[in-house]
Amino acid sequence: MDLYFRSYRSSSAGNCLAVWTADTSLLIDCGVKTLRDCRAIVGGHQHSHGPVHGVLVTHSHGDHLSRDGVRVLQEAGIPIYGHRHVVPQLRARHDVADGDDSPIRPFPGDHFVFGEFDVTAIPLPHSPDVPTFGFAIQAGHGTRRRKLVVCTDFNDDAAVRPHLAGADFVFVEANHDLDLLRQHFNPNSRYHLSNVKTAHLLCDAFGDGHPAPKLVVLAHLSEDRNRERLAVGEVQRAFERQGLRVPFELDTAPQFEASRVIRII
Ligand SMILES: [Zn+2]
Repeated sequence: MDLYFRSYRSSSAGNCLAVWTADTSLLIDCGVKTLRDCRAIVGGHQHSHGPVHGVLVTHSHGDHLSRDGVRVLQEAGIPIYGHRHVVPQLRARHDVADGDDSPIRPFPGDHFVFGEFDVTAIPLPHSPDVPTFGFAIQAGHGTRRRKLVVCTDFNDDAAVRPHLAGADFVFVEANHDLDLLRQHFNPNSRYHLSNVKTAHLLCDAFGDGHPAPKLVVLAHLSEDRNRERLAVGEVQRAFERQGLRVPFELDTAPQFEASRVIRII
């Protein structure tokens, strides 16, 4: 089974990711600001990669599910799912009805099967009173089984560390550089992971002979408080300090446009 991933947007201005096989296709978040962009992403994905069967929403912040996103998903008949702790906030924010017929529904539990995917919801410490989740998604069987981990919007790397074991692909937040944060202070940055903490997380998970993924994509980079070269450099230096080479391909997610299609191998 071939498993694919693509990031359509990854920043505080909007987030939308996609993961799919030949038979099952999920978006993760749809927090894009304009109807035109939402239609281009959702319609473009369906045109290029086949029908979308659902959207998993990580949390209720507007850059992860937007008003225009809800409208476009409803127009397209795509169900919106969230953790049972997230759904009440999503319904309230978007003025959507409760009940079984609601377009925003809880997924069945912390571990569930969605088509060809085994999905685990990962609780993430983020903004107070805003329950937030990342996802570990597995597909395939035997030696062809693959695991991807998607975690953005969190501020404590310990929450994610256990879920990285055995991952073939990791999409993880590297939100800000500490020097740039001092120059362009934003109190909300404390709810996000710094480059230093992301580097520590990756080193801890994959630095000491633990099997490493093929590819790690650094995501949700702040526009004012980060640069691609700073985020990548922090990870490289963390491994160098241990006398190691980075054991995976390292890339960054484009903030305001679509990434290449990534085949997870
Ligand atoms: Zn958030």
